[in-house]
Amino acid sequence: MTRLDAVRHEFVECIPETLIQGVVYVSIAYATVAHSCCCGCGNVAYTPLAPGRWALTFDGRSISLDPSIGNWSFPCQSHYWIERNRVHWHAAWTAEKIQKGRARTLQMINKDIERTDGAKSATTAVQTRWRGWFARLRRRFK
Ligand SMILES: [Zn+2]
Repeated sequence: MTRLDAVRHEFVECIPETLIQGVVYVSIAYATVAHSCCCGCGNVAYTPLAPGRWALTFDGRSISLDPSIGNWSFPCQSHYWIERNRVHWHAAWTAEKIQKGRARTLQMINKDIERTDGAKSATTAVQTRWRGWFARLRRRFK
């Protein structure tokens, strides 16, 4: 499996049945964005566009999705941001911190993942919690 660090977008009427990895399909008509998980596991991540869910930004060349995509319901547990067609991985970020021996931080993150996993979906509340976490962590490690 190859982890992608970039994607391209495609505006479509309907999300196709077979998704090509590395392509983010955007259906404005259905207010939905779908892509095959950027880790290469083949699972499809659907990110509905709605207030409090995901927001799509198109700058004429590339797309950004906000908030991050947390594929907790997939075995890969991938977590990343798509920003201007670039994929920013959160896993790599935490791994780096793990190496620095931030065991306590890791424990708390794991707890959060367990809770999220129990819910079996990336709900708005979960996304907000994650964002809060990373904002706090970022401040701490600055
Ligand atoms: Zn995956």
